[in-house]
Amino acid sequence: MPPAPRLAPLTGEGLLADRTYAALKKAILDNTLPPGTSLSVPELARQLDVSRSPVREAVQRLIHDGLATHAPHRGAEVSRVDIDDLRQLYVVREQLEGLAARLATEHLDGDGLAQLRGILAEHEAALAADADNAAQIELDMRFHRAVREFAGNPHLLAALEPIAGRSHFALHSLWRGAEAPRLALDEHRAVVDAMASGDPEMAEAAARRHISRLRVRLGQATAREAAPRRLRPSS
Ligand SMILES: [Zn+2]
Repeated sequence: MPPAPRLAPLTGEGLLADRTYAALKKAILDNTLPPGTSLSVPELARQLDVSRSPVREAVQRLIHDGLATHAPHRGAEVSRVDIDDLRQLYVVREQLEGLAARLATEHLDGDGLAQLRGILAEHEAALAADADNAAQIELDMRFHRAVREFAGNPHLLAALEPIAGRSHFALHSLWRGAEAPRLALDEHRAVVDAMASGDPEMAEAAARRHISRLRVRLGQATAREAAPRRLRPSS
């Protein structure tokens, strides 16, 4: 076991549970808490200088997001990135994101479209400002969250949420190609344009193409980076 990472005591305003969740999520996404790190409630509560109940709640939310996993007999830990598992996850994600885009197109109104375009504009601005990975990935996640919420199907939402969370987490930890954020934004734009034209089939095809291209890019990146990453939790 590596020594426990030191998290700074929580400061700031707002609901303690939300701040605890945000701090842990950030620590996972910026690799302060690397894959496989145990998420011990008493230990995290001590480091963050908060009581145990907001930490317990935050860990449940992280599991729901796919950023943490319940490990039998060990409590929760930060999700590990397993390349073969990830490939299988992306096969399912491709189908479900396509379905989400198709259903969302059927339901989309002017407000919804404006919201999606707003996310694209923020993403564009973040790229132009050379924002950090975490900020760009947050915008990417917001885009997909909005699409699946517009789809308006609770079963699809329940199936897709943890898959999307784990996929994005994997992207974050494995894939840092310089051109990748620009490609993702272009593909998001193609999805929104198809939705705006009111063609559900075209929207479905565009969303599926985005995920399948992500899978290819991820495969290229993992060919370079998978080996050292995989060794990491036990090193
Ligand atoms: Zn995306």
